[in-house]
Amino acid sequence: KSFEELGLNPDLLKGLFDMSFSKPSKIQERALPLLLKDPPTNMIGQSQSGTGKTAAFVLTMLSRVDFSIPSPQAICVAPTRELARQIMAVAATMGKYTSVRTDYAIKTEQKVTEPLSGHIVVGTPGTIVDYVRRRLIDASKVKVLVLDEADNMLDQENLSEQCIKIKNSLVKEGRPQIVLFSATFPDRVRTFASRFAPNANKIEL
Ligand code: AMP
Repeated sequence: KSFEELGLNPDLLKGLFDMSFSKPSKIQERALPLLLKDPPTNMIGQSQSGTGKTAAFVLTMLSRVDFSIPSPQAICVAPTRELARQIMAVAATMGKYTSVRTDYAIKTEQKVTEPLSGHIVVGTPGTIVDYVRRRLIDASKVKVLVLDEADNMLDQENLSEQCIKIKNSLVKEGRPQIVLFSATFPDRVRTFASRFAPNANKIEL
């Protein structure tokens, strides 16, 4: 299947063309039809880095956002600032032909006091919890929550609990689609994944 056949909008196809992504990778071909389905369903995906999972969830976030609403509608949680930066770069490149705006939610020197207005927010768990609690992120408008590298999240005890907190706050105020990726699925990741993304479709490569 081609990216066109997966139903991506023309602005996103142009972005992919610029990046010379000529056809979907295996994980993209399998995950995107599930990720883009309406009504949205939760998804848990097992995929090593290098397989193209970032594009799968970034395209999902870009497809679900209403660009006319200046408020966070997709949140991606990453275990490190470095990974958050990489995901953000992918979102900017793929969304080049859309009017997407993005915000970081990572610990910085500057204190954030105004509600975020970017459509997509990428950050680390503690900062996102803080922003949701302080209403700098309006939880009621969030349509997609993505967690990348769940196995690395579990390596640091309190990160996984922060992720559950984020999920609970969003679920309390809305009905977000929840997506989780992990390279490996030992039992403890499996248990965490089903708490974070209940009733999810599962994809293993
Ligand atoms: P990831 O698994 O998300 O870390 O992606 C691994 C690498 O594969 C990145 O450098 C992407 O730019 C590249 N990539 C992802 N999807 C495709 C695709 N459909 N065609 C060509 N390259 C891709």
